[in-house]
Parts: sequence; C-alpha cells; structure tokens
Amino acid sequence: MTEPAIAIHAGCGVMPRTGLSEADWEAARQDLAAALRAGWQVLKGGGSALDAVEAAVVVMEDSPHFNAGHGAALNTAAEHELDASIMGGGDLAAGAVTLLRHVRNPIRAARALLEAGGPVMLGGAAADAFAKEAGLEMVDQAYFTTERRVEALVSLKQRAQDGTIRSASEAEKHGTVGAVALDVNGHLAAATSTGGYNNKPAGRIGDSPLIGAGTYARDGVCAVSGTGAGEFFIRHVVGHEISSRVAYLNEKIAEAAGHVVLTDLARYGIGAGVVAIDAVGNVTAPYNTEGMFRGWITPDGHLSVGTHADIISLPL
Ligand code: ASP
Repeated sequence: MTEPAIAIHAGCGVMPRTGLSEADWEAARQDLAAALRAGWQVLKGGGSALDAVEAAVVVMEDSPHFNAGHGAALNTAAEHELDASIMGGGDLAAGAVTLLRHVRNPIRAARALLEAGGPVMLGGAAADAFAKEAGLEMVDQAYFTTERRVEALVSLKQRAQDGTIRSASEAEKHGTVGAVALDVNGHLAAATSTGGYNNKPAGRIGDSPLIGAGTYARDGVCAVSGTGAGEFFIRHVVGHEISSRVAYLNEKIAEAAGHVVLTDLARYGIGAGVVAIDAVGNVTAPYNTEGMFRGWITPDGHLSVGTHADIISLPL
C-alpha cells in the first residue's frame, strides 16, 4: 500500500497582500483547506486519485474566490466560457471539455467524458449537451458571475483602450484551479478547471483542457496541473515536459517543475505556476508571480496552505 498525498493550486493570479481584507484572505485559505480535505477524505478511504482530484476541484469551482466555476473570468463579450480536463496516470485515460457555458462543475463533465471512454475532448454546445445528458447540474451564466470579475473586465477593457495592459496585475488577468494526487494503490491523477483569463477573446481555448499542456498524469512518474498564461503552457507542453524531465533525465520533481516554470517559461515575462506530485508523494509548487493559491497534504497527514510566500498549517 502507498501512502497517499494531494496538492492543489487555485491560480497564480493572486492579488497583492493589501488587495483584499484579512477576512477575504482567510476565507480563501479556508476554501483551499476544504478542497484539500475533500480530496484527502477520498484518498484515506481507499478511493482513487481520480476521485480525489475531482472532489478537490469541485470545492474550488464552487468557491467565489477562484477563477473556475462560480467566480470564473469573463471574456470580451462579458460571457463565461469554461475549460476543464482530468487524467488518470494508470491507463492514461483522460477527459477534456472546453467552451462550456452552462455546466455548474466543468470538472465533472471532464470526468464523465473520461468515464464514457470515447472522445477525449468535446467543445462548445456539444460539451454542454453531453454534460446535460450525463445528468450533471446545469446553470445560467449568471451563476458564474461575481462582482470582482465584472470589475476586472471593466478595468482590463479600460487598460486595453489606454494601452496600459502590460501593467495590469496578475489578479486582474487570470487564475485557474487544479489538483494532483497519489492514491493508496500508487495511481496518480491530475485535474484542472478554469475560466481562462479576463477579457479573453470569445472562443479562445487555453492550456487547462489540453492534456499534456495544463494537465498531465503518468503512473510511476508524476502528475501536474498548471496555471498561468496558457498560450505558453501549450507551446511548451508544460505538463508533459515536466513528466519527461522526471522520466528521461531522472530529475527530482522539484527540479523538473522548477526548471520548466522558473527557467523555460521565465524568458517570456508571463505569470506561471504548477503543482506537481511524484510517484512517492513528493509535492512541489513553483510559481513566478507574487503569490499562488496553493496547498497540500503530505503522506504524514500534514495540511498546509499558502497564498504568498508564507505557508500556514491548518488542522486536517
Ligand atoms: N492557464 C489558464 C488559461 O490560460 C489561465 C490561468 O491559469 O491563469 O486559460
């Protein structure tokens, strides 16, 4: 039996510390801890890594603090188009959905597609129809909208007009949620869900639903979920690249993930971060922005969460 472990992120588009009240930071940390506990409960009960990452991501999709599900980013047309994917490291089974408009929990749609065992990826109206057919909860677009995202859209449109888009904060721009886990049977899994970035063009698809880019898991190697400027994650095939460094260069997970985030992606001056876990439960969470919502439960059952540099221990 393997000792289980889980790690999550909820985006590297974190505000400066002073951007939110202490009560808001505390609420976000509590939601991170709740997501970890949901995944851990599955793992400790002998459940699969796939079930654990799905359970953790659902909690973060339901939280208004993160850019996925309720609280997702708005595109240029002030609409939500949601992307998600999930992958199991045992048989490399995967499900990915993109441009969803009405599925309350996009990660559940990705999982249902994985279980259906046919197409790996569905997009747009067909993906919404598949989710409805699968019995998932459907909602109006208004369910996803929060005041903070509306404000971010107004501010980014203004910046686009003024030519000051480069000085927009990471928080104004983007975010994503994701989870990676190792279960008692030694299986790995990864899941990622996002609203993309604020003021993205309608129809734009990022890295989060692309297997190998924003999400990747392979037993015996590692599982990875990413956040950041998706175009660069796609071009560098980040999840698979990290896995390849571990598998073929024998790098430790922290070295491999650190290299891709802090060296390969660094040259573009974009925000980027990942969480990754290896085959024995070592966890790493490198990022190059001011902060990244993140947390993990290590095989010894210790729960940690962080928003900026400091990491806080919370009860399991
Ligand atoms: N990676 C996401 C995307 O490009 C956004 C983010 O994580 O900030 O859609």
